[in-house]
Amino acid sequence: MNHDSLKIPQATAKRLPLYYRFIQNLHSSGKQRVSSAELSEAVKVDSATIRRDFSYFGALGKKGYGYNVSYLLSFFRKTLDQDEVTHVALIGVGNLGTAFLNYNFMKNNNTKIQIAFDVDEEKVGTTIGDVSIHHLDELEKKLKAKDVQVAILTVPSSTAQGITDRLVECNIKGILNFTPARLNVPPAIRVHHIDLAVELQSLVYFLKNYPEDTDEKSE
Ligand code: ATP
Repeated sequence: MNHDSLKIPQATAKRLPLYYRFIQNLHSSGKQRVSSAELSEAVKVDSATIRRDFSYFGALGKKGYGYNVSYLLSFFRKTLDQDEVTHVALIGVGNLGTAFLNYNFMKNNNTKIQIAFDVDEEKVGTTIGDVSIHHLDELEKKLKAKDVQVAILTVPSSTAQGITDRLVECNIKGILNFTPARLNVPPAIRVHHIDLAVELQSLVYFLKNYPEDTDEKSE
């Protein structure tokens, strides 16, 4: 995100990609305005939160009119740096890593997995999607050549910290960590941690223990 967005609270910033995707769809279907109630229904965020979020970006909806779709779209594009493609590397081409290589991230946002790494000789030298898989030994050399800023980690957790230390040395700015390992990084590096097993377990826990409570729905 660009520097203008620094004053936006983190919780709001996290919802931006969600808003962006929906506004993009509205724009391509030719819709010119949208109310906070419509947005709320579509993205499952309550409309008071949407109004507060949008007030941070200077998008002030008018009663009976709503928000201007083109304005929102250009705001989101600028804020999320959608005009510029962010190059991503993926480390660990197992089941999950393979799925990511086959998934077209460009569909909804401007991030592209440019390169992948593994240690399995059967995978090294092959291509999945249009992404070539290199040996981890080549990490430093290849990443520096490709201007990669973000890495996705889908390796066994025992190897995650060692690889992270190397990624930090390669000037990676952000890591999306799908391993259960908690990573230590210098303060300037951002790590987002997604443990799918924990998320699933947490969902099941809420279903069992809070069957009537819908407050957690959009968390
Ligand atoms: P997943 O957890 O994605 O379902 P999996 O069960 O197929 O994957 P894992 O053992 O978790 O396999 O390993 C994921 C991938 O990480 C494999 O392709 C494996 O070869 C690779 N891998 C293992 N160690 C390393 C390492 N040190 N560096 C890079 N890749 C590695």
